[in-house]
Amino acid sequence: SLGKRSRLVEAHRVAEEFYTAALLDRTRGDARVGRDFLRERGFGSAAVERFGVGFAPADGDALTRHLRERGFTEDELTTAGLSGRGSRGLYDRFRGRLMWPIRDTTGDTVGFGARRLFDGDRIAAKYLNTSETPIYKKSSVLYGLDLAKKAIAADRRAVVVEGYTDVMAAHLSGVEGAVATCGTAFGVDHIKMLRRIMRDEADHAPARVVFTFDGDAAGQKAAMKAFGEDQRWAAQSFVAVAPDGMDPCDLRLAKGDAAVAALVDAAVPMFEFAVRTTIARFDLDTAEGRVQAMKSVAPIVGSIRDTSLRPEYIRTVSGWLGVEVEQMATEVKKAGRLAP
Ligand code: ATP
Ligand code: MN
Ligand code: MN
Ligand code: MN
Repeated sequence: SLGKRSRLVEAHRVAEEFYTAALLDRTRGDARVGRDFLRERGFGSAAVERFGVGFAPADGDALTRHLRERGFTEDELTTAGLSGRGSRGLYDRFRGRLMWPIRDTTGDTVGFGARRLFDGDRIAAKYLNTSETPIYKKSSVLYGLDLAKKAIAADRRAVVVEGYTDVMAAHLSGVEGAVATCGTAFGVDHIKMLRRIMRDEADHAPARVVFTFDGDAAGQKAAMKAFGEDQRWAAQSFVAVAPDGMDPCDLRLAKGDAAVAALVDAAVPMFEFAVRTTIARFDLDTAEGRVQAMKSVAPIVGSIRDTSLRPEYIRTVSGWLGVEVEQMATEVKKAGRLAP
C-alpha cells in the first residue's frame, strides 16, 4: 500500500542520513578507510555529497538501533532490507561498507549499493546490493538516473556503465547521461525506462544507448549479452570498451576527464563490436582461420532482422574477414536455416 511504501522510503531516507553522517564522523576510525577510498578514487566532498555516498559502520547493529529509536518496527526494517534477523535479534544488513543510495527517478532512495572496505572481510562479496523489496526491483532501477535523466533527454543519449564509481566518474567528466544497473544485467525494462525519457518518436533524431563497459573479460561478456538482447530493444546501441582492463573510474584517474568523454564519443555500433569481438578469436592470416571466423559471425549477421540492411552488413563483414561476399552470404543463409 501507499502508506507502507512511504514508511519504507522514509526508513531509507533516515538510513541515508545516518550513513552520510557516519562517513564524515571524525571520531570514527573505521570511516576514515571509506573517506580515503573515495579520495583515492578522485572523488572530492562535493561529489560525495551530490551522490549521497555514506559509510555503514562495522559494528553489528548501529543503524538498526538508530531506526528503532525513531519508531520503525522490526518488520519494517527487515522488509526494507536494512536489517537481518538473527538468533539474537536484528542486525545491520550492511556493515563496514561504503554506501551508495540507489534512487528512483523522482529521487527517493529505495535501496543501497554497498562496497566492502576491509580486507579482513575477504570472504564477503566486494559489492552487496539491497535484495528485492516492495520498493526495490533491480530489473527496473538504474543507478544515477535521477541525476542523468535531464542530460539523457537533452542529448538523446544514455550511457550505461558497470559500477557506482563509474557513474560518478562519468558525471564528473561531463558525461552526465551515465547510469548503471545494480548488480544485474541490462535488460528490457531498463531500456524501456531510458526510451521513455528519450521519448523516441519518428520526428526525433534516433535515441542512442552507449554501453561503456569495463575493459576486462566480464565487461566484454556483458557487452555481448547486451548484443544478444539488442534487437528486442530496437534502440541504436553502441559499445565503448576502456583500454587496458580499465573501467571509466580507472580511466578518469589515469588519463583525466577528457579521456572518459572521448571514450564514450568513440563508441562503435554494437553490431560492429559483436562481429569484431568474435572475429578477434581467429587467425585471419590462414584460410582455416578465415573460414572458422566466417562460420562464427554468420549467426550474428543473420540475426539482423532488417532484411534490406542485411546485404549491406554481409558486404562489410566479408571485407573485414577477407572472404568473398557470395561465400559470406551462403554462410549467413545456412546459419539462418540452422536457427531454431
Ligand atoms: P571497484 O570498486 O573495485 O572499482 P568496480 O565498481 O569496478 O569495483 P567491478 O568488479 O568491475 O566493480 O564490477 C562492476 C559492478 O558490478 C560493480 O560496481 C557492482 O555494481 C557489480 N558487482 C560486482 N561484483 C558484485 C557482486 N559480488 N555482487 C553484486 N554486484 C556486483
Ligand atoms: Mn569489471
Ligand atoms: Mn572500478
Ligand atoms: Mn569495474
